[in-house]
Amino acid sequence: MKTTDKKDIRALSKDQLREFFVSNGDKAFRGNQVYEWLWNKACYDFEDMTNISKDTRAMLEANFVINNIKVDTQQRSQDGTIKNAVKLHDGFVVESVMIPTENRTTACVSSQVGCSLDCKFCATAKLKRLRNLNPDEIYDQVVAIDEQSRYYNNRPLSNIVYMGMGEPLMNYKNVLKSIEKITSEDGLNMSPKRITVSTSGVPKMIKMLADDQVKFNLAVSLHSARDEVRTQIMPFNAKFSLDALKESLEYWYAKTKKQVTYEYIVWKGINDTEADIEALVEFCQAIPCKVNLIEYNPIDEDNFIQANDKAVAKYVTTLEAHGVTVTLRHSRGKDIDAACGQLANKK
Ligand code: SAH
Repeated sequence: MKTTDKKDIRALSKDQLREFFVSNGDKAFRGNQVYEWLWNKACYDFEDMTNISKDTRAMLEANFVINNIKVDTQQRSQDGTIKNAVKLHDGFVVESVMIPTENRTTACVSSQVGCSLDCKFCATAKLKRLRNLNPDEIYDQVVAIDEQSRYYNNRPLSNIVYMGMGEPLMNYKNVLKSIEKITSEDGLNMSPKRITVSTSGVPKMIKMLADDQVKFNLAVSLHSARDEVRTQIMPFNAKFSLDALKESLEYWYAKTKKQVTYEYIVWKGINDTEADIEALVEFCQAIPCKVNLIEYNPIDEDNFIQANDKAVAKYVTTLEAHGVTVTLRHSRGKDIDAACGQLANKK
């Protein structure tokens, strides 16, 4: 556990860092240099900031800490997927995943320790929300996976999905700050088009994203377009109904002109009927969208069983007949419990 009262230097903006140096009789420019070390170079030790004088480094050391994450354990799947158990400065552990495909490497990052929502089919939901991650803790996961991609795949990281542990929109400010750093020239200079934030669907926050004119992609974990079904499997739906969700998505599209991806699992006896498919087709009429049918990764919940290929094919043909684009996502990293919804399943 952390025992120091020193301030986390990465909580400071560039301007605040510049001001800090000025108020300590140094040049504002020194703030730019240190900021570059902290973000662009992802430096975790003042000692390594070689263009900063020894005295200044000692002064920084006396005033601040760098609360970087540490990759505690790394598990490598047969398919090349890597699951990282990431230790935070206060001892909590979250997970992040590197997913290589033929021509891209995707980082799947966590945004909370545990999760504030209660999806019945998700392992993370069983943990409750213990705390939000800070922007730098999300950023560090991306940096670590970029390094792993360079090492194992000889190429940098190409995409990021906020689909690890937690509900990103329940940690709105920090998630947006992390993306700001990832996309800025001072940071990793990645295009927001390569970033997807996945939400279980918090209408108020989706509207806020639209108002903030964000440039990244939005995915919504829908899983059912019928309130009576969705509330059973995602109980928070009782508070945020599908009508409210749809309205927020219409608002999103009006403001951003960006289509949305709906993530959807088909379970046997839960959402595999004609009525379920029809409801989804209707939901898809609201705004331009795409449906990503994802494979269920079992988490020791007897009620949830992946529907058979025939049931999934029925979804595909009906959606396509109505002009909706459908993709099928196969799980990666199943053998190491790194697949969607399996994070924190086994420790
Ligand atoms: N809270 C966010 C992001 C984390 S979950 C969200 O809900 O979108 C990332 C994705 O994994 C979501 O689409 C979620 O529905 C899906 N998921 C959760 N549990 C799963 C499981 N057991 N098998 C497959 N996908 C799962």
